[in-house]
Amino acid sequence: METEIYLDYAATAKPLQAAVDECVRVLSEDYGNPSSLHRKGFLAEKLITASREMIGAALGCKSEEIIFTSGATEADNLAVFGAAAAKKRQGKRIITTAIEHPAVAEPIKRLEQEGYDIVRLMPDQSGRYSCEQFAEAVTSDTVLVSAMWVNNETGLILPVTEIAEAVKRVNPECLVHIDGVQGFCRLPIVLKNSKIDLFSISGHKLGAPKGIGALYCKKGVRIIPQLLGGGQEGGIRSGTESVPLIASFGKAVQEASSHREKSYDQACGFRELFKKLAYNKIAEGDIKLHGDETVALPHIMSVAICKIRSEVMLHYLEQSGIYVSSGSACAKGKQSMVLAALGYSKQEADETLRISFGHDTTNEHIEKLVECLYKGMDTLARKR
Ligand code: PLP
Repeated sequence: METEIYLDYAATAKPLQAAVDECVRVLSEDYGNPSSLHRKGFLAEKLITASREMIGAALGCKSEEIIFTSGATEADNLAVFGAAAAKKRQGKRIITTAIEHPAVAEPIKRLEQEGYDIVRLMPDQSGRYSCEQFAEAVTSDTVLVSAMWVNNETGLILPVTEIAEAVKRVNPECLVHIDGVQGFCRLPIVLKNSKIDLFSISGHKLGAPKGIGALYCKKGVRIIPQLLGGGQEGGIRSGTESVPLIASFGKAVQEASSHREKSYDQACGFRELFKKLAYNKIAEGDIKLHGDETVALPHIMSVAICKIRSEVMLHYLEQSGIYVSSGSACAKGKQSMVLAALGYSKQEADETLRISFGHDTTNEHIEKLVECLYKGMDTLARKR
């Protein structure tokens, strides 16, 4: 069997072995309900506490500020709807960006249909967002600012801690939510020193199984629960906790955060190697890296291959065991709103591949990728 070259980490990471082992072990051995009063329940509760502490340490916050959810989609929905409901008497204005993931964009669209006034900020010509933009948009009746930390399609980094400070200077009562999914364990953050109130993360983007995530909710910040029931997770998110997934999430976070700096340097190396090999082999103008790499996460590259639709190239690469995305995996077939907001034409967006690196990526993977892209361009161009 040919080796698999998985370069789609922004869609989901290859699971970390320590996370898989913990998940399976807890599933078969520590199966108690954490709410039960006997020893089995107590052991399950202990695993949740340990995971909460590991995640709190990686986020630089108190463990009690972590609310486990079924993933970042739920965390984002809880943050947006929960904050809007808690602040409904203070106002109906929300500031967000035009490049949010649907897990934020769709709940906000729902609020717009219900009468909220929504401001979707656009990036500047170089694709950047500034704190001033946010500060200028915030008014006394703004109840929520929701912005992503790292864009899932292009890797663009937003200065979220500075944005939160700028927002609070104008309106200290306005809640700040950050979708931290793509930046968590890849970039440093210390939430306790920040003005960020709510911060969403997802397990499967860093090597834990799918179906687990969390919302950081700063101590003293009130949001209205969206799931009612047994009152788990401090009453904010009812439902019996998935102990195997939570324990596994903690292990993945512990491992990923301990390798964060090394993984960042490696990703910079992969991006440089890709550029060197691609520009060497592929004619200038036939390949284009989107965005300004001085404000982008090196783990995510958005690359346009001239005159070849990304889906066609994606399936060509797949034949050689190489897995990448066309734009964002979550946008399946839909036109990318993000690339449009960043000023790319429909044709450029259609030709854009997302290549993303993670813990098993090697230089050989990058060499094989460039080789196959080069061959693919030749083969597919001849077929046209
Ligand atoms: N937010 C961002 C930026 C993402 O990239 C994703 C996943 O693609 C999500 C939210 C949703 O996360 P989950 O798959 O855990 O629901």
